[in-house]
Amino acid sequence: MSFSASIITLFPELFPGPLGASVLGRGLSDGLWSLQATQLRDFATDRHRSVDATPSGGGAGMVLKPDVLAKAIDTVAPQGDPRPRILMSPRGKPLTQKRARELALGPGAVIVCGRFEGIDQRVIDARALEEISIGDYVLAGGEVAAMVLLEAVVRLIPGVLGGADSHADESFENGQLEYPQYTRPQSFEGVDIPPVLTSGDHGKIAKWRAEQSLELTRARRPDLLDPRKS
Ligand code: SAH
Repeated sequence: MSFSASIITLFPELFPGPLGASVLGRGLSDGLWSLQATQLRDFATDRHRSVDATPSGGGAGMVLKPDVLAKAIDTVAPQGDPRPRILMSPRGKPLTQKRARELALGPGAVIVCGRFEGIDQRVIDARALEEISIGDYVLAGGEVAAMVLLEAVVRLIPGVLGGADSHADESFENGQLEYPQYTRPQSFEGVDIPPVLTSGDHGKIAKWRAEQSLELTRARRPDLLDPRKS
């Protein structure tokens, strides 16, 4: 079974969107992964097909109803579905390369996209949704966040990117940022490629890259080097 993503959203027409382009899109049409976007409104029970209601206790905006969302989740992922159930949420655990890699090795994911002020806490608890955030800012909905999550995950599915080695050196994979990259031409606006990279000495190249990675990480993201934070 290949990686299977199910999205619950009020805007299924947004998918696959960018996930349908380039290598991820090729992986999708080749069956290396699959994507299903389900319209939350199809699970509404009243005449107006309402999915939201005013916040209990007052305040601005609307909240997604727990009964409608629970029904959608139970239909998309009936009991026994092994896939993790994720809610995109600014209150969630920040998305990391480590979590993306774990998800890529698993059976897939069921992803709930919030809208408005968010969703009723009781359905988060009752369906044990894993809340994941893509950063400390607030979006208008979970759809773009779900795409970010899936893009990070799907490119790690074996066969999607090709080249078994192509992830090993990347930023975050070894707890550091990637070294700077160069390519032809040899001279660009008077600046040459660092000579070590064209020396052909692979030992020296590896050493230079490791030094550059460390230097860059120290300067820009010292938090990544702090063992207490890993
Ligand atoms: N009132 C909420 C924000 C709601 S934003 C709060 O203050 O926490 C509406 C929806 O957008 C959320 O339910 C969530 O699904 C999505 N969303 C917004 N920001 C996000 C982020 N940083 N990461 C992941 N999802 C986000």
